[in-house]
Amino acid sequence: MRSHYCGVIGTEHIDETVTLCGWVDRRRDHGGVIFLDLRDREGIVQVVFDPDTQEHFERADRVRSEYVLKVTGRVRARTEATINPAMATGAIEVLGKELEILNTAATPPFQLDEYTNVGEEVRLQHRYMDLRRHEMQERLIARSKITSAVRNFLDGEGFLDIETPILTRATPEGARDYLVPSRTHPGQFFALPQSPQLFKQLLMVSGFDRYYQVAKCFRDEDLRADRQPEFTQIDIETTFLDEAAIMDITERMIRELFTAVLGVDLPEFPHMPYAQAMERYGSDKPDLRIPLELVSVDDLMQQVEFKVFRGPADDPAGRVAALKVTGGADISRKEIDNYTDYVGIFGAKGLAWIKVNDIDAGVAGLQSPILKFMPDDIVGQMMERLGAANGDIIFFGADRAQVVNEALGALRVKVAEDIGLVGEGWAPLWVVDFPMFEEDGNGGWTPLHHPFTAPSCSAQELAANPGAALSRAYDMVLNGCELGGGSIRIHERAMQEAVFGILGIGEEEAREKFGFLLDALQYGAPPHGGLAFGLDRLVMLMTGSQSIRDVIAFPKTQSAHCVMTDAPGAVSAQQLRELNIRLRQKQDSGEAG
Ligand code: ASP
Repeated sequence: MRSHYCGVIGTEHIDETVTLCGWVDRRRDHGGVIFLDLRDREGIVQVVFDPDTQEHFERADRVRSEYVLKVTGRVRARTEATINPAMATGAIEVLGKELEILNTAATPPFQLDEYTNVGEEVRLQHRYMDLRRHEMQERLIARSKITSAVRNFLDGEGFLDIETPILTRATPEGARDYLVPSRTHPGQFFALPQSPQLFKQLLMVSGFDRYYQVAKCFRDEDLRADRQPEFTQIDIETTFLDEAAIMDITERMIRELFTAVLGVDLPEFPHMPYAQAMERYGSDKPDLRIPLELVSVDDLMQQVEFKVFRGPADDPAGRVAALKVTGGADISRKEIDNYTDYVGIFGAKGLAWIKVNDIDAGVAGLQSPILKFMPDDIVGQMMERLGAANGDIIFFGADRAQVVNEALGALRVKVAEDIGLVGEGWAPLWVVDFPMFEEDGNGGWTPLHHPFTAPSCSAQELAANPGAALSRAYDMVLNGCELGGGSIRIHERAMQEAVFGILGIGEEEAREKFGFLLDALQYGAPPHGGLAFGLDRLVMLMTGSQSIRDVIAFPKTQSAHCVMTDAPGAVSAQQLRELNIRLRQKQDSGEAG
């Protein structure tokens, strides 16, 4: 139908006759001459119709925004005065000869160039229109390029792309499963995979050696900001490689991806133990572009009477830490109140602070409601430890270590964003030496990664002290986002059973849920390990988008709803009958729901 994309026409086409197909971005009538901006996925070109071509001119007069046209015309240079350097095709225009209206369009629900004023709900409801916008086209094109570069890299390294089932049994990654009722097995359900974890491990048992898949994963979580119930992983698994080799390959993949797609040379990836990341940044995905660190002051606070600090300082599970914000003394009382509310989200009961006005004047040069509770020499030692200088503000967290880390870790990022302390560029790292387990709050343990992750100690040591055991897991972090995570897996049945035991999964339950895995592990399972990257987040970072919804063609809202198709939706009584499902009466209304 067409000879060129609109967006590629340039001075090299001058005097050529071209046929273009696309949408009317804008139509202007300039005293008897009609200008149409014609748009397709590659960009926009200006087409001019004058009354010489009467029939076509009249048609051009009738078109409206978003009509679909086929236009034939001659490319000509624009006059000096009308060249538009802001437009890729701004040096030329097409003098239209023929115009065919391929389809008309109703008035769009929103102006495509005014999306910032349009609510996201409206954008999502008419997503096919929203996706016509240049930014959205660019993001999805970038996504396609990223996936393709990843595939090329992995293909080149001998990885095989193998699909794994979507209708399956639960694969625990710590979220709720999406369930699908089985018609042929009344009363029974498939689970959609939270990840291909167990299948990729079984592929290693089968000897495929290197596997990857661009895989859809499903997790029924209460959606925190920027999560989607279905999302995409670049899922990888390998045999006979240790963690150093796996980190090496995947780091090279990300490096080459950044070079190929963005022309960016990523800096070194430091390896940071989890404990250190928590101690210094209060987070297992620290943003290393931010030059602020948490500093423990427990030893000093053990010497003060002030209960708010003394209590957590004396408690082995507690922590008292300081966050010095360089140049933050200008932060107002009102802003401090806002930060106090903010850390409250993470369970912090308050936010103590000290402003440094004149460090040489000792305690007299400091300003804070808490100074009166602390001896001067302790305050002095603390200032020295923190390297405090005039113009700084120091925030404190004192609570259970987890609360302090989460609260100050989040505050570190928020304050840095607010006062412009986030550095430019890319700051990648590997976080390693994760604990195997964390307490589940009911006297039991949950895995920090997933239950198939190998510990770096023996089964006996693991059983003797689960809380102290480290795992062979690793996470890749970039600018404060977890890009991917993985581990060396358990490949021996006895170890897998030991881990299930610690997690409170009894023999019968293990057999019932993971019998196939336990069986496979006894038929010559090789040492193996892998990792999965979150593709959506990777694309979001690489395209500088604010939300993962902006890099997914048809995302769901925060309440896991598709406003365009109105999914999930009700099903017919007939379908329910076939599935042997009867809906419970809704408690409130008494109606069948
Ligand atoms: N299956 C893991 C996840 O989804 C990744 C991995 O361990 O390879 O987080």
